[in-house]
Amino acid sequence: AKEAGRGTYRFFEPEMDRRLVERRKLEADLRQALAADHLELFYQPLADCRSVSVQGFEALLRWRHPERGMVSPAEFIPLAEECGLINAMGAWVLRTACREAATWPAHISVAVNLSPVQFRQPDLAAEILAILAETGLVPQRLELEITEGVLIVEPERTLATLNELKAAGVRISLDDFGTGYSSLSYLQRFPFDKLKIDRSFIHAMESHAGSMAIVRAVIALGRSLHLAVTAEGVETEKQLVLLQAQACDQAQGYLLGKPVPAAEARHLIADNRPL
Ligand code: C2E
Ligand code: CA
Ligand code: CA
Ligand code: CA
Repeated sequence: AKEAGRGTYRFFEPEMDRRLVERRKLEADLRQALAADHLELFYQPLADCRSVSVQGFEALLRWRHPERGMVSPAEFIPLAEECGLINAMGAWVLRTACREAATWPAHISVAVNLSPVQFRQPDLAAEILAILAETGLVPQRLELEITEGVLIVEPERTLATLNELKAAGVRISLDDFGTGYSSLSYLQRFPFDKLKIDRSFIHAMESHAGSMAIVRAVIALGRSLHLAVTAEGVETEKQLVLLQAQACDQAQGYLLGKPVPAAEARHLIADNRPL
């Protein structure tokens, strides 16, 4: 068995080489894409759960690769994190999203995702506040989405950064809530405004009593801690009705609208109709 294992390893060596070369190429392409403005932000509506009207949009990064077509952020963000490009990319995302949101009506906010890697920059808060000043977006209209991982890896620095941003009026959301390893004590320690329930729970809610119980509990937890709650990945009418029955604050998902280019988001805002 050992020999077969070694044989297999040798067999895959050229394959591993090929993948490494491909990765280097993708990395170079990514640098080029950032420099040449081949990245684009799409915007997905965040809707008031009861009225189903637009309250804001989450900015989601897209890469139009000349040969590969649309590359998913799930694929290139980890790459950008590893090759150190994420800080420049993150600044580009923030600047672009804030500039766009500054053209929207004042009651519409924008949510931007931050990578844990960005929190290693000691001047992250100052950089974000500079981008807000430069684009003229009031801090209250920016929501920053962070995941639980960053709270565990860099708790001290993250807390200082978030407190500085919060003091300036920026809002903080805990993304993918329920999928990480953080303890509930983080909810008290960090200055969150919102919990986003991961879409895996919303997806399983109708078929699985346990998931429904978790969704209910998170909504109740949010209410007692004075945190808004957003349900992610709402795809069916039935899910929306269940969330409305629990008085969930906000819904996001294909039922309300897929991520769309900035021009289409502007149309949705101008239409001013329930989604
Ligand atoms: P996320 O922050 O959890 O974003 C939500 C993802 O779920 C998006 O995938 C969105 O298109 C997708 N989604 C929304 N509604 C539905 C639904 O009803 N059903 C299903 N099945 N999916 C839905 P996307 O755009 O591919 O982004 C994937 C992830 O990449 C994001 O997950 C986020 O973690 C990351 N990401 C995207 N843009 C950025 C960015 O600018 N910066 C950073 N650091 N990460 C980003
Ligand atoms: Ca997010
Ligand atoms: Ca999420
Ligand atoms: Ca996610």
